[in-house]
Amino acid sequence: MKAPVGRLAPSPTGVLHLGNARSFLLAWLDIRARGGSILLRIEDLDGPRVRAGAEQAAIEDLQWLGLDWDVPLVRQSERLPLYRQALQQLQKAGRAYRCICSRKDVEQAASAPHLGEEGPIYPGTCKQGIAGVEHALPPNYRFHVAPSNTRFHDRFVGDVAYNVAEQLGDFVIWKRDDEPAYQLAVVVDDAAMGITDVLRGDDLLSSAARQTQVYEALGLSLPNFAHTPLIVGKDGRRLAKRHGDTSLHAFREQGVAAETVVGWLAWKSGLQDSPAPVTAAELVSVFDLQKVPQRQITWHGSFSA
Ligand code: GLU
Repeated sequence: MKAPVGRLAPSPTGVLHLGNARSFLLAWLDIRARGGSILLRIEDLDGPRVRAGAEQAAIEDLQWLGLDWDVPLVRQSERLPLYRQALQQLQKAGRAYRCICSRKDVEQAASAPHLGEEGPIYPGTCKQGIAGVEHALPPNYRFHVAPSNTRFHDRFVGDVAYNVAEQLGDFVIWKRDDEPAYQLAVVVDDAAMGITDVLRGDDLLSSAARQTQVYEALGLSLPNFAHTPLIVGKDGRRLAKRHGDTSLHAFREQGVAAETVVGWLAWKSGLQDSPAPVTAAELVSVFDLQKVPQRQITWHGSFSA
């Protein structure tokens, strides 16, 4: 069997916190445990949200955790021609169309019954074309989604069937500031970089359904997906500022050792039976995705609970 290829894909939009650390640690272990290679991709296309210094900080955090990668890093901002080519291919295939609706237009047009998982579902206003329609803003491009259920197998979640049309509608793949949206860039990159295995947080499960459609429309084969649960606070809600500062940087400043953080994550991820300090490298031989519990893991505010 060919050795797997995985990736760490931080967005340089803020600092890495405990939740990111868990996803990156599992993604790294899942590949290293099978003798595969890891690539680092900086997802720096989120224009206004990208913060100066965040790329370097993310790299330092990953290294501090004991994670490594095998080739020089790749930055999405340096790969625009590749994404543009994919957009053109989708346009030719009739799977991408220009949309001049503003966010407000979409909100106003989509009434309550059309509220999807991530807000109002795009009502399809521009689907029939915008030729001759005056518009002040440059267009976005939307992906023409298939009406049927999208099905794929997730190594962690199992078989997934998700109706993108009903839950999300035609989504943006190219933004009016002339950059690809995440849903397009991630597919183009994972395919071009030869990524065989994508392990990430399960907040991206519905993205995997969208991406599956994009892979198919581009004639590319899917990677193996695995989406693992996020870390939540004591209130059961996704880890956020209100649960205190869980940035790796803050822990480091407090003198917490990387082995303590990794030990806690390994314990909560079913890889050892106590929060004993451990290095990422020491976990390679014990890692098995099957050991990782299906439930969310809870941060109680310390590395001993
Ligand atoms: N850059 C994304 C993030 O930091 C990860 C996207 C992915 O793994 O597909 O959340």
